[in-house]
Amino acid sequence: MRKECTTGRSAEKAHGEQRRRSGEPYICHPVAVAEIVASLGLDTNSICAALLHDTVEDCPEKTNLAEIEKLFGEEVAMLVDGLTKLVPLYIEDKEEAHIENLRKMLLAMSKDVRVIFIKLCDRLHNMRTLDAKPDPKRRSTALETMYVYAPLAHRLGIQSLKTELEDTSLKYLDPVGYNEIVADLKSFNANSDVLNEIRGIITDKLAEVGIKARVTGRIKHIYSIYRKMFNQNKQFNEIYDLYAFRIIVEKVNDCYNALGYMHDIFRAIPGRLKDYIATPKPNMYQSLHTTVSYK
Ligand code: MN
Repeated sequence: MRKECTTGRSAEKAHGEQRRRSGEPYICHPVAVAEIVASLGLDTNSICAALLHDTVEDCPEKTNLAEIEKLFGEEVAMLVDGLTKLVPLYIEDKEEAHIENLRKMLLAMSKDVRVIFIKLCDRLHNMRTLDAKPDPKRRSTALETMYVYAPLAHRLGIQSLKTELEDTSLKYLDPVGYNEIVADLKSFNANSDVLNEIRGIITDKLAEVGIKARVTGRIKHIYSIYRKMFNQNKQFNEIYDLYAFRIIVEKVNDCYNALGYMHDIFRAIPGRLKDYIATPKPNMYQSLHTTVSYK
């Protein structure tokens, strides 16, 4: 039998009749966390640790680490132990909490970075199900997510976690602003169909002219739009990068060629071209940026 299955059964037994605040059996939570962990491509021991992550602290019948080690090995026990100890302090002062938590987490990270990855997945599932919690708890959890967990996800380079953590936090921190942007995105008809349509146009053009390229795209996430509107005092229709695409080519020459073809098929907006190849960013980042309009 696969190790994940035995671990899952063990966690299920440990949580017993325990329920989440929403009323569903507690085991739904560790299973959902394990699914997120698996979707990030982490290893078997991390998935097992995710399944067991609340069995040491949050169970009616506390499982002890020695037992986990005996059943699932030293590594799983070490990860569960790390997760159990990683309980951020509740501090009133935002700045303080931010720094203190970050330091604690980074400390733990130096031992095994997987602990942080699993913790972030745990938090993500808690954010997805935050509606079940009472109001004051929602706000403090959202604050902590926004100022501690999302920046950590960013630093670890897990973009998908970072964006969802930010968006779900915003939903509780400024529900009015959040809903406004959701409505704007809807009325603007910003969706993945349009994203794929534009990506199709780009890849077709590059294939036609024989430039080998990998093209990825994204829709700007809600918190990123929010920040831009708030910090730069912009209206929704002044956000020019709702859709963004990255074209990765093999040679520097192809960068300039690809740019030329993009300006050929879309209308370039004047004054938006940035050549970070000629002038790299301080961290040596090199690329070309442009803004074009579609339709
Ligand atoms: Mn948990």
